Amino acid sequence: MTLMENIVRLSRVDGQIRALRQRVAQARTYHQAQLRQIESIDARISELETRRRQHRARLALAESDAATAAAREEKFRADLDAASTTKQYAAVLTELNSVKAEKSRIDEAMLAEMETIEAIEAEMASLADQRTERQRVETVAAQRLAERTQEVESTLSELEQERVTVEALLPPDSLNLFNAVAESHEGEALSNIEELDRRNRVYCCGACNVNLPLEQVAALTARSVRQLVRCPACGRILCLHEDIRGALAR
Ligand SMILES: [Zn+2]
Repeated sequence: MTLMENIVRLSRVDGQIRALRQRVAQARTYHQAQLRQIESIDARISELETRRRQHRARLALAESDAATAAAREEKFRADLDAASTTKQYAAVLTELNSVKAEKSRIDEAMLAEMETIEAIEAEMASLADQRTERQRVETVAAQRLAERTQEVESTLSELEQERVTVEALLPPDSLNLFNAVAESHEGEALSNIEELDRRNRVYCCGACNVNLPLEQVAALTARSVRQLVRCPACGRILCLHEDIRGALAR
């Protein structure tokens, strides 16, 4: 196998490995998105629980104030009955009216607290429904992730084995170059040279379309290429198809 044949083989194996990993990565990303949504629902629920606790405490306080005011009202009513002078009666009546006003303020406050608690609980119930639904989606996503991981596992390990074999056939500098270019071009490390005009020998990089100097193309016509040639524009490793090679060699 020539250097170019091995590079093409490595690129094919690398592409297959990337595609399989991508399939698993997509399923993982989707699953993680579901988990994040559940986390955010949980955070909101816990925030609402804190708020409900605070409002329940305020309600309890208002209830105790209401009980105190009721007791005072009862006492003033008794005092009113027992009042022996008009002056005394008027004084107690003022106190009674003031405690009645206070009671009605407390009642309003209690009602407001109860309404707030009700609204919080309604939102909590709706969030609980959303959580159940999201949990269902998450379960399916987790299953799909496990299935995909399992599906690709054996193929992936075969391909990785093959990759190790091909890598061993390549000179280290070529291998390092391939890995670097594959990394920066999302696996598309190779580019086929395209022939634009055979008679005038005009060639371009099939990936980025930039015209290639003839000496770069010519460097790939030798039977055994010893060094990889890169596109001067996009940096991909150039490959020369047998047809073009044959035509150029003539
Ligand atoms: Zn290019």
